[in-house]
Amino acid sequence: MSIISKDISKAIVLLTNDELVAIPTETVYGLAGNIYSEKAVKAIFETKKRPFFNPLIVHIPSVEYLETIVSEIPKKAQQLADAFWPGPLTLVLKKNPNIPDIITAGKDTVAVRVPNHPLTLELLKQLPFPLAAPSANPFGSISPTNAQHVEGYFKNDIKMVLDGGACENGIESTIIGFENNDPIIYRLGSIALEAIEAIVGKIAIKNKKEINPEAPGMLDRHYAPSTLTVLSHTISEDIKKHSGKRIGVLVFESRIKNDNIQEQIVLSPSGNMAEATSKLYDALHQLDKQNLDIIIAEIFPDFGLGKSINDRLQRASFSS
Ligand code: AMP
Ligand code: MG
Repeated sequence: MSIISKDISKAIVLLTNDELVAIPTETVYGLAGNIYSEKAVKAIFETKKRPFFNPLIVHIPSVEYLETIVSEIPKKAQQLADAFWPGPLTLVLKKNPNIPDIITAGKDTVAVRVPNHPLTLELLKQLPFPLAAPSANPFGSISPTNAQHVEGYFKNDIKMVLDGGACENGIESTIIGFENNDPIIYRLGSIALEAIEAIVGKIAIKNKKEINPEAPGMLDRHYAPSTLTVLSHTISEDIKKHSGKRIGVLVFESRIKNDNIQEQIVLSPSGNMAEATSKLYDALHQLDKQNLDIIIAEIFPDFGLGKSINDRLQRASFSS
């Protein structure tokens, strides 16, 4: 029997009983549990095979709820929360003492956001506790952007995926931390860098290794298909280089004409970057199922959401 369901009351019963439920958000599906339940939080790590040193994002129902999670709110953090919540922005702030160490991997900061999905907001409003929810995929693999992706990963491990359709934004949240009350980008994501800078001015992007070298969202190889994936500025040349192989191609807007291509996905024929972002992971899931020898992915224009897509494609294609 399918674990996919739209029944919020069933999700509430499961979550209240320390069970996990996969939940829809505007970024990707999350594997959610009660932040105060040690059993549920441990199950999140075990189900994902996520190392315990990698902290989880806490999902809350409203901007006002933030003060129950964190002990300090820098002025620019408040401005960002007011501008983007509910939405795909994660703030890393000094934690309140009541936030369990297992959530923050022992750090004195906690990552928190208000997701922008009607079903999950409703769920959070009805529950008497916030939800810890990392992406609902096994460690290192492609994040899920619909309920079927989650079912494919975890149908034997969890009891329910709350079905909220395809994720509107389609890549993870933008993560922002603070040093001396100044914001710093820890991870590029669903919000274009320029939109963040419109609120808080010029902002630095921290080298992932400086923040937390072990954290998977910061790892060089992450968000990765099992098929060998390479990034390309010059697709036609790369196709020639790999001729004789089963080649899959992922491009932004213009279809490549070449008989050596087995499978090709054009993310947005109209050149719409938001549409391309929302379809990115589903395209990688689809290509990964085609028994290809190689996926050649086009590098995106390096501004706006293109910068975030390039970050993910670089990690999907990283090989040491
Ligand atoms: P995911 O939920 O799978 O998108 O991953 C969450 C990301 O948030 C990981 O890359 C973590 O390293 C990052 N994160 C969570 N808490 C913190 C924190 N306290 N400091 C820095 N990064 C964090
Ligand atoms: Mg993840």
